[in-house]
Amino acid sequence: MYNERILQYEHETMGKEIRDLLYRYQGNIWLDSVGRSFDDREIYRIIVGNRTAEKKILFTGAIHGREYMTAKLLVKQTEHFLQYMCEGGNEDFDVAVHVIPMVNPDGAALCHRGIEGIRKKELKEKLLKIKEKEDFVRWKSNARGVDLNRNFDAFWKEYSCEKQKPSAEKYKGAYPESEVETKALTRLTRKEKFQATISYHSSGEVIYWDFGQQGKLREDTKKLAKVIGDTTGYEIIDGWDKIAPAGYKDWALLEMKIPSVTIEIGKGDSPLSENEFPEIWEKNKDIWKNILRIM
Ligand SMILES: [Zn+2]
Repeated sequence: MYNERILQYEHETMGKEIRDLLYRYQGNIWLDSVGRSFDDREIYRIIVGNRTAEKKILFTGAIHGREYMTAKLLVKQTEHFLQYMCEGGNEDFDVAVHVIPMVNPDGAALCHRGIEGIRKKELKEKLLKIKEKEDFVRWKSNARGVDLNRNFDAFWKEYSCEKQKPSAEKYKGAYPESEVETKALTRLTRKEKFQATISYHSSGEVIYWDFGQQGKLREDTKKLAKVIGDTTGYEIIDGWDKIAPAGYKDWALLEMKIPSVTIEIGKGDSPLSENEFPEIWEKNKDIWKNILRIM
């Protein structure tokens, strides 16, 4: 059962693809790490475009383990952008584009390889105790059973999550930013002060932008959502009272006042079938250019 999924997008596969881009586009792409996951995997950050530009945007993916197709999409978008910039595009985007394609590599490893995807003994033992299902194919949390996208300080306290203890999903953690993966994102965001952030998730073909923000922040976020909606055809969701808080986008909006949007790709249940990727790619391939044009 896992074999088929191994052919999909693992952290190692992603690392190889990124290193290939580094080789092919030397001087136009930079790679580092913003931290290491609990099971000791690099949380890669790529920068393309004008690295020293004042304007900066952040794209993130796979904060939920089973949504690893978003990592594949982001690396392909990176390649597409490099091709455009280095081989013919005559637009000059004065923007530094930061990409963290896989925020939660341990969660993805659990989906791909089950418990064998985790290397540290103490994590494995704990995971075997907390798992409720037969396998880990649909695991969303990190290797400690915390749903990273409920671990940010944006109505975290008020949010009564469905799970009160470590779990495959929907457990918010002991306190905000309790997880190294969450911390990696907040630390980077506080340092870089992006002009926009885009969080890729799956699935549902919808765009979330509304966290009750007001004034210019509201207008700017709405504008961002509209460009994404026009490009992808995904539905823009207004209102936020029914949406669970404490996600990265929520924190970036509430605490950092950065226009921030979540894009949910794909139609089926996550992990999405590879068969969906060509359509997802068609809908999302021009997102970067279209966003950068309005920045
Ligand atoms: Zn998600």
